[in-house]
Amino acid sequence: MSVIAANLQAVDRRIAAAAQQAGRQPGEVTLLAVSKTFPAAAVRAAFDAGQRAFGENYVQEGVDKIARLADLRDALCWHFIGPLQSNKTRAVAEHFDWVHAIDRLRIAERLSAQRPAGLPPLQVCLQVNISGETSKSGAAPGEVPALARAVAALPGLRLRGLMAIPEPASDPAAQRRPFAALRALLDAMRADGLEVDTLSMGMSADMEAAIAEGATLVRIGTAIFGARDYAAAPATHG
Ligand SMILES: *Cc1c(COP(=O)(O)O)cnc(C)c1O
Repeated sequence: MSVIAANLQAVDRRIAAAAQQAGRQPGEVTLLAVSKTFPAAAVRAAFDAGQRAFGENYVQEGVDKIARLADLRDALCWHFIGPLQSNKTRAVAEHFDWVHAIDRLRIAERLSAQRPAGLPPLQVCLQVNISGETSKSGAAPGEVPALARAVAALPGLRLRGLMAIPEPASDPAAQRRPFAALRALLDAMRADGLEVDTLSMGMSADMEAAIAEGATLVRIGTAIFGARDYAAAPATHG
């Protein structure tokens, strides 16, 4: 078995154990394999081990990788999870299935307008700056209700839920707090009448805490592909 296949099995076991601990079904949690900085061959190895959903952070690297794996396009689901500048929205709208880090209406409007008519709507999450650091990306929690209503009305997009990258914390209780806050925001959107179902939260170091607080999608890179070496990455970033 390849290292990637063995790592995927170990991650699946972590997800199943965390779900069970929380009284949830493992099938409620989608594993997104974050393949940024890793070559198309690594994605192919994960595909061969049964993985279907992949996350990329950098537009050019992601578009190149999708092209190299064109033979698998119909079987794969590609998620753009990085921060997105307005001059890069077109490539994302044309090549990806999901976008996780929408934090302002302008980006959502561009993605909606640029989504090709022959494709299904782009599935999107709003990124929330849930730990409140001023330097990080993400909408402020107080901005989320109005932004959600505006994004939900765009024809080229389908609003699925919320995403967050909290400040790293080592103790489980501290890890869970921002995830609980994100879940409360999603509940408020539902109470507001929006049909949203996705909580994109949890990475290699805190997936158990995220699953305990209701994550429906965990974004896992290191635990599947190993440590990232940005200097040796297959494509330019940005
Ligand atoms: C890189 C990245 C991940 C994966 O992080 P790991 O700690 O390697 O699991 C998840 N989400 C986002 C937004 C990322 O940029």
